[in-house]
Amino acid sequence: MSGLGLTWTRLSPNRTVGRADSIRYVVIHTTENEQRSGVAWNVAVYIGGAAVKASSHLVIDDVDTVRVVEDRDTAWCAPGANASGLQIELVGRAAQSPADWDNGFARAQLERAAVAAAWWCEKYGIPARRLTVAELKAGKLKGFIGHHDATLAFGKSTHTDPGANFPWARFLARVAELLGCESPAAGDGTSSSGSPSSSSTNQTNQIGAKMPILDLNKTLSLPTYMRRLQALLTANGHATAIDGSAGPDTKAKLRAFQSAQRLAVDLICGPKTWNALLGLS
Ligand SMILES: [Zn+2]
Repeated sequence: MSGLGLTWTRLSPNRTVGRADSIRYVVIHTTENEQRSGVAWNVAVYIGGAAVKASSHLVIDDVDTVRVVEDRDTAWCAPGANASGLQIELVGRAAQSPADWDNGFARAQLERAAVAAAWWCEKYGIPARRLTVAELKAGKLKGFIGHHDATLAFGKSTHTDPGANFPWARFLARVAELLGCESPAAGDGTSSSGSPSSSSTNQTNQIGAKMPILDLNKTLSLPTYMRRLQALLTANGHATAIDGSAGPDTKAKLRAFQSAQRLAVDLICGPKTWNALLGLS
């Protein structure tokens, strides 16, 4: 079971076992390949070659999310932010236009990336917020960065991915939606005001108890939390439409999930079911 939406795992020898620092960042990259289905697997094979000396945690295209390095290990991807980073390589190029980031391929790919990132946010207490270069340098806050931000902060690489047109606002809004909360940074993340984020938390084991109880036997009007439930069911392998309404398919998938987890099959999403969905039980 994985909440990352993995379709394949192909672990690379290019990694450092363990981490020299705590996980604080989700780092976004582009692979510098054309947007084409199936390329994520090809990239995973490529960075599985011992001579390559590079890796990331996940490689994502429109149809696949490929695990290359386990979360607990250090991927070699963004010098300066490797020990503290969870790295996502998106099949595409840093030079992509806004339209390139909004075509069918990119939309499906960004949804996959948002599901994986939201899972990491839950697990490691990372807010759906882009850090400024100054914040990254200071190393005190958790959040999202691009490879380019690490280049600017640490000067250990020349890479500028994922590029000037990466849709940060749209992407982080979707991550926040999957997390069931408002994005702390609704803007494009280029502000340098640097106000500290208050939404970062390590109390992940208490999340289930803080969530509202969704009783799908009744008529509900909590679309944000319904979408979160649906996204988590989908991320756990029980795919259903993320539309915020408790339809027959969502009910069937919740029953199947509760049954598979040996929980009471009661269509009530309470603390135990939330924690199971979040991989915390
Ligand atoms: Zn990169």
